[in-house]
Amino acid sequence: MKKLLLLSTGGTIASVASNAGLVPKETGEELIKMLGKLPYDIHVKDILQLDSSNIQPEEWKFIAQNIYKYRNDYDGIVVSHGTDTMAYTASMLSFMLKNINIPVVLTGSQVPINVVLSDAHDNLRLAFAAAATCPPDIYLVFHNKVMLGCRSVKVRTTNFDAFESVNVPPVATVSSDGLVFNTDDHFQKKHDGEPVLNTKINSHVSLVKLFPGFDPNLLFAMVDSGCRGIVIEAYGLGGMNFIRRNMVAAIGKLIRRGIPVVASSQCLYERSDLTKYEVGREALLEGAISACDMTSESAITKLMWALGQGMDVHEIDDFFNTNVAGEVTLK
Ligand code: ASP
Repeated sequence: MKKLLLLSTGGTIASVASNAGLVPKETGEELIKMLGKLPYDIHVKDILQLDSSNIQPEEWKFIAQNIYKYRNDYDGIVVSHGTDTMAYTASMLSFMLKNINIPVVLTGSQVPINVVLSDAHDNLRLAFAAAATCPPDIYLVFHNKVMLGCRSVKVRTTNFDAFESVNVPPVATVSSDGLVFNTDDHFQKKHDGEPVLNTKINSHVSLVKLFPGFDPNLLFAMVDSGCRGIVIEAYGLGGMNFIRRNMVAAIGKLIRRGIPVVASSQCLYERSDLTKYEVGREALLEGAISACDMTSESAITKLMWALGQGMDVHEIDDFFNTNVAGEVTLK
């Protein structure tokens, strides 16, 4: 029988109604009790009790440390987590826990587990099944899908089908035959070494969504206030305005000041390609780094991790041209 660990951190899945609204209160034991019998030897540790809107870099480190600590004692680890920031946590864990030697599966629910028609039971059952059968990696499971953590995004606020695997198919889906694995080459990732826990990050970064009329001087104001790297969600393939409000010139100045600027797309699907239009190519010439087909969640956490390692702009450029955890498809 597979020995699995549940690390509970709170979220809607563990929430109960209160005068202040839904508050995470249920323990991991209570979650397991409500699932009924499963064919696994499940152990539980309550490590946090937070709505995931309150989960921040300090909690990412703590969760990563716990996973690393228990990685040799269990066949797989499930992390119950609020849905709001789960994709950020999953992405950051993918960088903090390189070569993790067991499956680590994050899940949550849209409705608390103590509500009759909650989606929590199905999501948790799938999380345990994935933790018992998937190859080692960081996953997020939700609504019959097992997704690579660093490719998942929350796309719906209330629907049970709240997460999507962006730009790569889910690793596995549930059918009447059980878990059906995708045989795509993308998932033939080779783990090339011992697990490494590296929680050094610099969270003084910014994620800016470009809109017509955005004042590029605000980027300098951010840097003057301590911001050390910026991801810009630009238009379409990665285009940015350079007439009147000159984003391109601002990016060049920032990069010459040693501030990495990553250009991603406001479009959820498909890759940014700064080479196609003048509005992208100019930014590329100034040194903007392309996020290719990464999610914004992966781009911002990758940038924090890279800065935490003390990488300079050129090293960060190289690092973004490296597929670390399956987060990017390089051409
Ligand atoms: N606000 C909740 C949280 O992220 C939402 C959820 O879990 O679905 O913790």
